[in-house]
Amino acid sequence: MLALQGGVAEHAAMLRGLGAEPVLVRTPEHLAGLDALVLPGGESSTMDRLLRLFGLREPLRAAVLGGLPTLGTCAGLILLAAAIEDPAPGQRGLEVLDVTVARNAFGPQAASEETVLAWGEERAPVRAAFIRAPVVTRTGPGVAVLARHRGQVVAVASGSVLGISFHPELTGETAVHERLLALAAGRRAAAA
Ligand code: GLN
Repeated sequence: MLALQGGVAEHAAMLRGLGAEPVLVRTPEHLAGLDALVLPGGESSTMDRLLRLFGLREPLRAAVLGGLPTLGTCAGLILLAAAIEDPAPGQRGLEVLDVTVARNAFGPQAASEETVLAWGEERAPVRAAFIRAPVVTRTGPGVAVLARHRGQVVAVASGSVLGISFHPELTGETAVHERLLALAAGRRAAAA
């Protein structure tokens, strides 16, 4: 888990509950030997600044582009995106997921809400909390849409990268993290 800022503890608890051992990533050295990566929610422009301050932008980019199964939630999705419609001054994410995102896209009224979405190929119900959430406004080739909310794309997958606008870790929803851990298990099996 990237642990510079944001909702780290909730993701760590969720992963522990699913039998994984969370590792807090604060330096490039912490990336060694990971099976998967979570970029939590928080404030994307702050995380973006801290990434560069801690020398993590390039090593993280390389890890994700190298196939490390990765989940970005909310601000984490913004960090993954190739382009941000309305970046904070100087904000530039990892540019590893071929989507464009718009920040705080549901406006102040619908800024925070809890709902049930149809998720993934099976359109299974997932409980989702939105907090000043971004939406995906463009998906590149090879990017699959996993869920929509109010007609807008709020979850995508591309190769081993998952990007979602909402917070499953706040509703106790395990489906998203289970998908990440399944990607990690698949990668480990392929390497064995
Ligand atoms: N609006 C925040 C941002 O731009 C994201 C909010 C969140 O992660 N809950 O980073």
